[in-house]
Amino acid sequence: MTLDPAARLAVKESGLWGITSALKHFATTIGRTVYIPPDWDASSVRNVLPHEILGHVKQFRWCGLGIHPTLGIFPGMALVYVWGIIFPLWLAWGRYRCELHADSASWSWHLAKRLWTPNDVLTRAEGFATTVSSKAYAWAWPRKWALWGFTRRARQVIRKAALVG
Ligand SMILES: [Zn+2]
Repeated sequence: MTLDPAARLAVKESGLWGITSALKHFATTIGRTVYIPPDWDASSVRNVLPHEILGHVKQFRWCGLGIHPTLGIFPGMALVYVWGIIFPLWLAWGRYRCELHADSASWSWHLAKRLWTPNDVLTRAEGFATTVSSKAYAWAWPRKWALWGFTRRARQVIRKAALVG
């Protein structure tokens, strides 16, 4: 499954990622590297890769002016995350937009491969909107707004996939 030839996988070492319990249980992408919690099985990893690689690695690539995802770490993506940390926690618009983009890239991919049905996409969109507005994402966006935005985007992705497929 080649989603981006520059992307790399690594296992999260407990020492480095033990800072917060939230980080321990999520995949985290920095530059071209997707860090995976050590206790994940292969199917959990497969499920999250389209989100991390088509979404976040591509975002790092954009911030690196399209040259290489590693160049996007600083200052581009760092700003998005710092903004999310130092400004009112529940209004981290940049993080919300990054997650919305990454997850909708994953929905399109799963629909195109016929791995998910439109209903799967809607269920995932609602579930992930809840996650993004929870403690795990530092309450990046109010829950009602996140649900509205994710459901709306899910319907667009489903409509587009139906036209293509
Ligand atoms: Zn994400």
